[in-house]
Amino acid sequence: MSLLVVGSVAFDAIETPRGKADRVLGGAATYFSVAASYFTHVNLVGIVGEDFTEHDHSIFRGRRIDTLGLERAAGKTFFWAGKYSENLNDRTTLATELNVFATFNPRLPEPYRKCEYIFLANIDPTLQRSVLHQVERKPKVVALDTMNYWIERTPAELRETLRHTQILMINDAETRQLSDEHNLLRAAKHIFKLGPSTLVIKRGEYGAMMVHANHVFCVPAFPLEEVHDPTGAGDSFAGGFMGYLASAGRASEADLRRAMVYGSVLGSFAVEKFGLERLRALKRSEINARARHFAKLTQFKL
Ligand code: AMP
Repeated sequence: MSLLVVGSVAFDAIETPRGKADRVLGGAATYFSVAASYFTHVNLVGIVGEDFTEHDHSIFRGRRIDTLGLERAAGKTFFWAGKYSENLNDRTTLATELNVFATFNPRLPEPYRKCEYIFLANIDPTLQRSVLHQVERKPKVVALDTMNYWIERTPAELRETLRHTQILMINDAETRQLSDEHNLLRAAKHIFKLGPSTLVIKRGEYGAMMVHANHVFCVPAFPLEEVHDPTGAGDSFAGGFMGYLASAGRASEADLRRAMVYGSVLGSFAVEKFGLERLRALKRSEINARARHFAKLTQFKL
């Protein structure tokens, strides 16, 4: 089953207590597609500028990632700069330069229009919806990420897009902001009225929680001695989650639970090194071994 992603391809400047990088390849769609490509074929929709070289593009080569939908436009690639606090839980955005992203109007190449698994990474909800309009048949699963900027500035457009979404994948602060509820279970009930039937809450070092109908499922974050760079952890989680679901071809309760584990596995690898360094060098055997480790980590008898 192929998987479609629309979102940012970017250059990032990152500062964490473990180091600093002035310009590394990043972007939500980049992290997502590299993570998901360990499970399934990925169709990428995004935009880059003239400064995006063949060398940058090589991140997608030799993987199951189709870049026919990666448009090249005059101007510079989207640039984001962020700095993490000492405990790595808080992040300050220092710069967001939209560049070619400012006039982005996603266009799906013909072969992408039959995709049944879709991930709408964090972009303008109107653009997210325009992708859904171009899909020819009803997708099996549409998952969406968003952020405070869209929750505050374009609430009506976001609500409209949420009506067409089955899985909402956001962090705890965004969950509270979107629902106006502090308690996450009550927040989930509120969000289900907006369209999604599954809520996946990414909670950084506290792991991830899924609320689906009357079921709640929690996965811890993988215990690591050192986290180098949390950038892209959420998108890598989403890539592991959706990549697994698309490869399974179903989304039963058991599949969703396994997807939570594979999401956590990919998120945990992403933070081990700077930028995409660890994620791009992964082996499927390492993913499987860490998934088994997760099973052991959470096993107990009563
Ligand atoms: P995450 O750490 O999972 O939230 O994702 C970080 C990635 O999102 C970085 O590589 C950034 O390039 C990208 N990013 C940051 N801000 C935005 C934005 N406003 N729109 C789209 N992508 C963004």
